[in-house]
Amino acid sequence: MPESAELIGRINPKLRQVFMTESRVLISASSGTGFWEGAVRNTINRKALNCVNGAFSDRWREVTELNGKANEVLEVEWGQPILPEMVAERLATGEFDAITIVHNETSTGVLNPVAEIAQAVRSAPNGDEIMILVDAVSGIAGVKLEFDAWDLDVALTSSQKAFALPPGLAFAAVSDRAMEKAKTVPNRGYYFDFITLDKSLQKNQTPATPALSLLFALDVQLDAFLAEGLENRFARHLAMRDRTIQWAKEQGWPMFAAPGYESPTVTCIDNQSGIDISALNKYLREKGMIISNGYGSRLKNKTFRIAHMGDLQMSDMEELFVAIESYLQG
Ligand SMILES: *Cc1c(COP(=O)(O)O)cnc(C)c1O
Repeated sequence: MPESAELIGRINPKLRQVFMTESRVLISASSGTGFWEGAVRNTINRKALNCVNGAFSDRWREVTELNGKANEVLEVEWGQPILPEMVAERLATGEFDAITIVHNETSTGVLNPVAEIAQAVRSAPNGDEIMILVDAVSGIAGVKLEFDAWDLDVALTSSQKAFALPPGLAFAAVSDRAMEKAKTVPNRGYYFDFITLDKSLQKNQTPATPALSLLFALDVQLDAFLAEGLENRFARHLAMRDRTIQWAKEQGWPMFAAPGYESPTVTCIDNQSGIDISALNKYLREKGMIISNGYGSRLKNKTFRIAHMGDLQMSDMEELFVAIESYLQG
């Protein structure tokens, strides 16, 4: 229908602004996980370096392997960042044609220095041909990611994290370099084939049925982002992050993320004092709030997470802190 093409046509330039790119932002009716698969299926012929420092980056490693791609893993202790020099050292062999990295590890509250890592990749022996694949799922729209300026190849996200929309949509910025690479890669699959997705996007269409109701919501939310101003939006997240860390320290709680790498969208606290997170959440739920237990078997109850992303405001955080304090005081 022409109305559908009009809607996608309205959305495209706004999405490109949010991803800070002049190339293209593909849209899919899936969650972000779909574009994990898409990124590795479309851009890897030789071998990927999967950078792992938490549960999500580890799952992307698994997705790489399950899609039959050769890989090696660069893993650091969870809670620590991936650093550019570690990546440079591993890429020195010239064997890799892609790296996967999670910008904002939602499971550990660590923000990886992706701009510096991308520079290290480009300085590798075959740096110009290495695909830099970035999971920015809980980052983009809350954390600045400059797709073109950082020279990335794929940056993907979902609608339900920092975009603060209902779940069901995924977006992926894709560079011209990655599109050229895709032409050389056999078995790109069907649903997440970048070439067919891009061909349709140029006509403001999608190859399969678009999730129209969610696209209407996206159109409204993108207007809200731009009305707030992207820089203001990033600053609001940083202020909520700083306040959350300060408040947590006042409670005597250590951070799980290494100092200097704390995520602007989610704070992960080391639960050394053994707070019963499910009891706390039961109390918070009655007041219409909720926090998150540690993610996955390795971090559950050992850590807990306070989100400060999307449309949350400082006043929401203050309300949450008062509620948690009153719970702790019994
Ligand atoms: C939530 C999340 C995912 C998975 O995204 P879905 O939309 O649930 O498929 C991947 N990576 C990170 C960093 C996440 O926070």
